[in-house]
Amino acid sequence: MAKNIKKIAILTSGGDSPAMNNAVKAVVNSAITHGLEPYLVFEGYKGLVENNLKKASKKDVKFIGAKGGTILQSARLPEFKEEKVRKVAVANLKKNKIDAVVGIGGDGTYMGLARLTEMGIKTVGLPGTIDNDISSTQYTIGFYTTLNTIVTAVDQIRDTMESHNRAGIVEVMGRHCGDLAIYAALATGAEVLSVPERKLTIEEIVKQVKQARKEGNRSIIVLITENMYNANELAKIIEAETKVETRATVLGYAQRGGVPQAMDRFIATRMGEFAVEKLLEGKTGIAVNVNNEEMTTKNILDVVKMKRPSREKLLKQYDNSK
Ligand code: ADP
Repeated sequence: MAKNIKKIAILTSGGDSPAMNNAVKAVVNSAITHGLEPYLVFEGYKGLVENNLKKASKKDVKFIGAKGGTILQSARLPEFKEEKVRKVAVANLKKNKIDAVVGIGGDGTYMGLARLTEMGIKTVGLPGTIDNDISSTQYTIGFYTTLNTIVTAVDQIRDTMESHNRAGIVEVMGRHCGDLAIYAALATGAEVLSVPERKLTIEEIVKQVKQARKEGNRSIIVLITENMYNANELAKIIEAETKVETRATVLGYAQRGGVPQAMDRFIATRMGEFAVEKLLEGKTGIAVNVNNEEMTTKNILDVVKMKRPSREKLLKQYDNSK
């Protein structure tokens, strides 16, 4: 039977995340196994517009699975929201006779794929972001690795805070999603947690630090999601109000890179293979999800519009366990 597609392009876009490479590898290998020609696109949508791509062999992706970041590189191209810019990308794809694009990234990347779908390109999105902020999937590619990096950092900061009788604020990534902080708080027993889903006032944080000290804690960890407070200012306020010496650590880019962890590699590999399978079934404009070990798909525009699942239960478990 003639195949509905012959050539697939793969790109990573937006913020890089660990194990994106495993997804790339699985797409390439699975495409070749199915008799398709995979193409690597460099620097995300910018590479599509600049025709910066090359045909991939299994050898190209042989040893990329244990590397952090993305071998395809990433770039931000806000102009991709403009139809005239996307038309250049579509023309390049047509010139190269590429029928389908697998894009690995977050919400923004998904929007780009949705627009390409409307312009006649077959697309599949894979959730590549450390933030775990794609609502249709239980886990995004990279989340486990970053979570582990954060837990290691909190443990290390804890040692010093415990030695010096201090409070330590640890600010982690997540954008509008508190998952990295919530999971890390549950995993480390942080004394105070403030996330977008349940933002504490500064007065409340001060109160909880006082309470933790009253309960006999020498070290007090305050875990916060980025973009909510100025961590250094918050440290000064806590110190002034509680008399507990307080230091802030903004983990920043220490948490994005690094060797991908087993679960991220496992999920990314399965998702990459699944994406090729779905394209061969004639699916397009879809995002791949993993929920309770099961791979599923959902319309990509619906995914972008989806409401975040409630974190009430996790927050309650955190409250009860600390
Ligand atoms: P992420 O994919 O991690 O959410 P961004 O929000 O930076 O990262 O998006 C990645 C890229 O996707 C952008 O640089 C842009 O090229 C493209 N993009 C974002 N939003 C749109 C949109 N509304 N329409 C078309 N392309 C978009």
